[in-house]
Amino acid sequence: MKSRFSLSQINWTTSLFLLLTLLGALVGTPIYLYHYGLDWFQVAMFLFYVPATAMSITLGYHRLFAHRAFKALLPVRFVTLVFGACAFEHSVLNWASDHRKHHKFVDDVDDDPYSIKRGFFWAHIGWLIVSLTPAPLENVADLKKDKLVMWQHRNCQLIAVLVGLVLPALLGFLWNGPVGALGGFLIAGLCRVVTVHHSTFFINSLCHTIGRRPYSKSSTARDSALMAFLTFGEGYHNYHHSFQHDYRNGVKRRSYDPTKWAIWGLSKLGMASDLRRVPAEKILLAEMAETRRQVEAPPAALLAAQENPVDCPKWQAALDAYQTLLERFTESYQELEVALADSVRISRKRLKQWRSESRRLLNQLALIGRMKSAAGGR
Ligand SMILES: [Zn+2]
Ligand SMILES: [Zn+2]
Repeated sequence: MKSRFSLSQINWTTSLFLLLTLLGALVGTPIYLYHYGLDWFQVAMFLFYVPATAMSITLGYHRLFAHRAFKALLPVRFVTLVFGACAFEHSVLNWASDHRKHHKFVDDVDDDPYSIKRGFFWAHIGWLIVSLTPAPLENVADLKKDKLVMWQHRNCQLIAVLVGLVLPALLGFLWNGPVGALGGFLIAGLCRVVTVHHSTFFINSLCHTIGRRPYSKSSTARDSALMAFLTFGEGYHNYHHSFQHDYRNGVKRRSYDPTKWAIWGLSKLGMASDLRRVPAEKILLAEMAETRRQVEAPPAALLAAQENPVDCPKWQAALDAYQTLLERFTESYQELEVALADSVRISRKRLKQWRSESRRLLNQLALIGRMKSAAGGR
């Protein structure tokens, strides 16, 4: 691990910006609302600007530019670059460079720019306050060839200020004079910037902290429906770290992923194409392989139970059920591996059945753990 940072490494511009926008949102907005109240025009601008800027990050910066999970026509690229700049998260070139590094070195204390192993605060915002490793940019050679990307890189701050702060103030002025201008600046400007900032920052902090890891426990990335709700669908982060080029993060049909729906919608309108999807069989194999890893390294409770069996019919029944599920699971896993090797398509019903078998096996393992600790406690 690198040595602790010094004051000279603090990025004062970014730190002051983060602090002042937060103060403006938390102090300035309530004072404004107390004096002038809230009108529908200000609410409408806020409700337009939040998804426009947040999804320009999730759909544009993240899935389109950083991961190349689909292709998009010029209008989509232009709009996401302009509104992505308004999120005040630097240019797409810097953003994608940091993000590709995060995927390549995930959880590495030195090389993952926002490694959760440096602590929650670091992953959330600390890495922006202290600039230890500026975005390398050598890992975004493909993006450097895009003239629109380079135009945004050169003019990012100007676009952000003009479209992200001045425009809502101007529209507010046209609506209700100087009071409307102040409201537009505070609500659709500062409050919106802070909201979108923390929605994005959650992906690096909370999405590596809370939730399940059904696809791989090799990284701290987790799946959480709550986080998906707060991050426009990016909360299925364990899936995303396992299959980063898939245009979907919430891969299941009922998963809350508005970014996935928007990309799909754009493809139906002819504005997006070449949507990359990991085959369902491959996704299930990853889930079953993770289950297998957990079963092959059973918890201490199960090992202790096998060595010192508890003399109780319920206990024996639980162990027998576990053994039966394990045998069935092993057979299914082998069948799935063969099917994948032979490129055989498997019915949705069969995939669902195997997924539920894996879940039952893990539940049975957890039940045995609970029974053993209850027996030990007596
Ligand atoms: Zn991550
Ligand atoms: Zn990513």
